[in-house]
Amino acid sequence: MTPIQMVDLKTQYLHIKNEVDAAMLEVLDSAAFINGRPVQLFAEEMSAYLGVKHTIPCANGTDALQIAMMALGLEPGDEVITPSFTYIATTEVVALLRLKPVFVDVDPKTFCMDPQSLRNAITPKTKAIVPVHLYGHAAPMKEIMEIAHEFGLYVIEDTAQAIGSDYIYPDGDRKKVATIGHIGCTSFFPSKNLGCYGDGGAIFTNDDVLADKMRMIANHGQKVRYYHEMVGCNSRLDTIQAAVLRIKLKHLDEYNAARQRAADVYDELFKDHKHIATPFRASWTKHVFHQYTLTLDGYNDVAEVRNGLTQFLAQHQIPSMIYYPVPSHRQNMFAAYGSSAFDLPVTDWLTDRVVSLPMHTELKNETQSFIAEKVLEYLNKF
Ligand SMILES: *Cc1c(COP(=O)(O)O)cnc(C)c1O
Repeated sequence: MTPIQMVDLKTQYLHIKNEVDAAMLEVLDSAAFINGRPVQLFAEEMSAYLGVKHTIPCANGTDALQIAMMALGLEPGDEVITPSFTYIATTEVVALLRLKPVFVDVDPKTFCMDPQSLRNAITPKTKAIVPVHLYGHAAPMKEIMEIAHEFGLYVIEDTAQAIGSDYIYPDGDRKKVATIGHIGCTSFFPSKNLGCYGDGGAIFTNDDVLADKMRMIANHGQKVRYYHEMVGCNSRLDTIQAAVLRIKLKHLDEYNAARQRAADVYDELFKDHKHIATPFRASWTKHVFHQYTLTLDGYNDVAEVRNGLTQFLAQHQIPSMIYYPVPSHRQNMFAAYGSSAFDLPVTDWLTDRVVSLPMHTELKNETQSFIAEKVLEYLNKF
C-alpha cells in the first residue's frame, strides 16, 4: 500500500503526465521561460473560466495579496480588516505594507469572516476588508459586500483555498468566488485546488483602472520598459508554470468534484458522532474542500484529546494537520499591534478544536474508511 498523504500530487500528475510533459518540453524548446505565450493564454483562459475581465498572473498568492493592497493607494496606518483564523499570508502583507491589521472573528460553522464582527470593527480609518474563503468554503460575500458599500470600503477576496467555487445568491444567481469583491487573489502553490509545479499566483478584477495599476505594480511599476511610474515589485508567473496550469485548469471542475465526493464519504463515516462536527456547507457556497476539517467538541480536555488523536493517527501512518495552530492575533509577529488583546472567542475556540484529515483528488474509499476507523477507534476511548 502506498503511504497515506495529506495531498497526493504524484498520482494526480501521473494521470496527466503525457500532456504535462509535452507542454513543459515545448516551453524548454521555445526557451521563452519568462512571459512566454502560455502565460498570456493561461490568463485569458482563467478569465473566461471565472467570468472576470482581468487575470494578472504573478509569482505566488502572497504577492497577489500584496500587489492588490498596493494598488488601493492606502496610507500608512490605514486599517485593513481580516479574519485572524487564516493562513499567515493574508495578514502578514497588511503589516508589511505598514498598514494596520484589524482582526475579526469567524463563524464557528463556516470558519469564515463573521459579518457582525466585521461591522463592529469598522472605524473611520478602515479602508479595506479581506475575506478568506477558508478550507474551500465561501465567506458570506453578500453580507460583506453590503457592509463594504455602506462604508465605502474595498474588498479583496483571498481565494487561495477556494478557486473554482461558486457563490450562490438567495435568488439562485451564481458567481465564481474571486470575482465578487473589487479584487480577487489566489495561489497556485502545488497543494492548492488549482496548483502548479512550483510557486504561482494570480489577481482578478473587473476594474480596468485597478487592473492597469496592478499589472504595472507586478512589473516594477512600468508599462513602458525602463520608465517606472510607481514603486512596484517583481512578480511573475513562470512560463513553465503557466503551461502546467493551462492543462490543470481544464480539470479543475473535475478535481473539485472529486474533493466533494471524498468529503461526502467522510461525512457519512463520521455521521452522528457526538464529539465530531463534520464540515458545514452554508446555503451560499459550493464547498470545494481544500481541506476536510473536523471540529472536536464536548471534551473536558480537548487539547489532550486532539494531541492524542494526531499522535495515534501518526502511529498508523495517517497524516493529519492543524490549520492553523496559532491564529494571527496570537502570533508574535503582530505583538507590536497589541493584537493579542483582540477578543476573538470563536477563533480561539476553533483553534483548539480543528483537525484536518487527508483530502485530495485521488483519495480512495478504502483509504477513507481506514482513516475514519482509526479516528473513531481513538475518540471512542473517551
Ligand atoms: C496558500 C495561501 C496563501 C498564500 O499563497 P502562496 O502562494 O503560498 O504565497 C494566502 N492565503 C491563503 C488563505 C492561503 O491558503
